[in-house]
Amino acid sequence: MPNSTKKIEISNLTVKYGQVAAIKGISFDIYKNEIIGIIGPAQSGKSTLLKVINRTIEFVPGVAVGGTVKIDGEDTQKVKSVHELRRKIGMVFPLPVGLPLSIYDNVAFAPRMAGTRNKAQLDELVERCLRQAALWDEVKDRLDSLGTKLSGGQQQRLTIARALSHEPEILCLDEFSIAVDPVTTMRIEDVLKELRFQVTIILVTNLVQQARRLANRTAFLFNGDLIEIDRTDVIFSENPTDKRTYDYVNGIFG
Ligand code: ADP
Ligand code: MG
Repeated sequence: MPNSTKKIEISNLTVKYGQVAAIKGISFDIYKNEIIGIIGPAQSGKSTLLKVINRTIEFVPGVAVGGTVKIDGEDTQKVKSVHELRRKIGMVFPLPVGLPLSIYDNVAFAPRMAGTRNKAQLDELVERCLRQAALWDEVKDRLDSLGTKLSGGQQQRLTIARALSHEPEILCLDEFSIAVDPVTTMRIEDVLKELRFQVTIILVTNLVQQARRLANRTAFLFNGDLIEIDRTDVIFSENPTDKRTYDYVNGIFG
């Protein structure tokens, strides 16, 4: 079970893209080693929230961010190295973005960039990450073939292996199952259940049942507002605090 140490503290966060208010003053904490599910219809600000956490939001021209996000008590705006901050956070996107490299090199890329040159060390790391992503058995005999030649579901697991290769403390997944079949989705869900003991997982999902299956707590974002956050069983119960939560998780809108 997650402990009560705060890993991420979000306070009064606002994000505007020009005139468009994507996040409208939300506050909540994420605990160490929990899986937090983030649900909500399209355009609710879910992906924006992830981009704020790893500060890739600042690549968007004309964006204005207000409020604070702290990781391990440290204001992410004030960290000495953005690079270090981003290394703490693994990101997995809806469509796997495989580098045009071999399976091995996809996973070894970040560690090499960070200075690991030792072949035995890299071998060990590549195997460990591929095992954690439940891909090792399928690719161990062809580590030299192109990652982009794998099936969609395998590529998604490769991106998870890659996200794990820099030993992140936080793993963010943004609608990872869009491009993968249900069987792969279930395999990745099993992977996440194991990984929760090592990392804090932020699971943005378009599948409300996925949050129900995996998340310790679930946050419902709608139109840039945090409507409700609670233990997942409360969010999915007959009487969450907000009627909109009930309606959304029961498929009445969205
Ligand atoms: P979600 O992931 O929940 O679908 P997003 O965070 O992608 O929501 O989007 C929230 C709002 O911000 C939407 O209205 C969207 O159109 C807008 N938005 C997202 N990214 C950009 C961008 N790069 N430039 C302008 N507007 C954006
Ligand atoms: Mg999104």
